[in-house]
Amino acid sequence: TLDLPEGINGKVLELKDISMHFGGLKAIDELEVEVLAGTVHGIIGPNGSGKSTTVNILSGVYMPTDGKMLWKGKNITKYAPHSIAQEGITRTFQNLQLFEDMSVLQNVMVGFHRHFKTGFLKNLLYLGQVSNEEQYYAQKAYDLLRIVGLEKRAHEKASDLPYGEQRLVEIARGLALKPALLILDEPAAGASPKEIEKIMDVIRRLKKAGLSIILVEHHMDIVMNICDYITVLDFGKKICEGNPETIQNDPRVIDAYLGGEEVNQLVAGTKSIS
Ligand code: ADP
Ligand code: MG
Repeated sequence: TLDLPEGINGKVLELKDISMHFGGLKAIDELEVEVLAGTVHGIIGPNGSGKSTTVNILSGVYMPTDGKMLWKGKNITKYAPHSIAQEGITRTFQNLQLFEDMSVLQNVMVGFHRHFKTGFLKNLLYLGQVSNEEQYYAQKAYDLLRIVGLEKRAHEKASDLPYGEQRLVEIARGLALKPALLILDEPAAGASPKEIEKIMDVIRRLKKAGLSIILVEHHMDIVMNICDYITVLDFGKKICEGNPETIQNDPRVIDAYLGGEEVNQLVAGTKSIS
């Protein structure tokens, strides 16, 4: 049911010379990124290297100080968040954004709110009447929960789910917008190893369904396992890019991350950075 992205020479997204300065701080500095259709593109880097700032630019939350952002060749640099979403770019947040008192299903239904004709949230929360429209979207939300493997938990309170599963609920909600590009900001944060496995499975499934995915992570092992291509940031600058093998063996990446013994464990995947 997911739309296939139509890329321009395979490129769906291009960041050209993007900078984001906060006063004197160069959170992002002359960043060049190209995301190819149907790939999982990792953005990694130490804490404070500019990953979330990049996501905020991509989703229209921040207007870059400089540079251009092209979506399938079209300049979307100055688009507001809702226009970016309409173009088919959807993001999740590093900090969970679920409604804790609502059910898992209702949380996913929120993703369809743009499509509702009348007072969706009001209906859902207060009146308790089930309209045909609501039933229709409840079914669609249920289908999305099946994609992330949470259909059995549809009627549980969102906050009763373990952290990793809450992240999957957020991904399911993002899918309601029928994205061509899904941007995940540290989807494994707070998840247990078993939950991380599930999240990685879902990402693989979405890629198979034709989505392009930007995966922002600092867990090196996850990125190495799942990404087709990786951009590495340090202090707001791209310090290297390439496939996982290239990245794994690049001394600049090792330098940017810590140095010494810990790095070997990181690259081997036996330790993750917190
Ligand atoms: P990461 O996600 O890689 O940990 P961020 O993109 O969150 O890094 O932050 C990059 C740098 O930009 C940090 O130094 C952070 O303090 C700064 N920064 C991010 N957002 C803002 C903002 N709205 N105002 C000022 N500084 C910011
Ligand atoms: Mg971040």
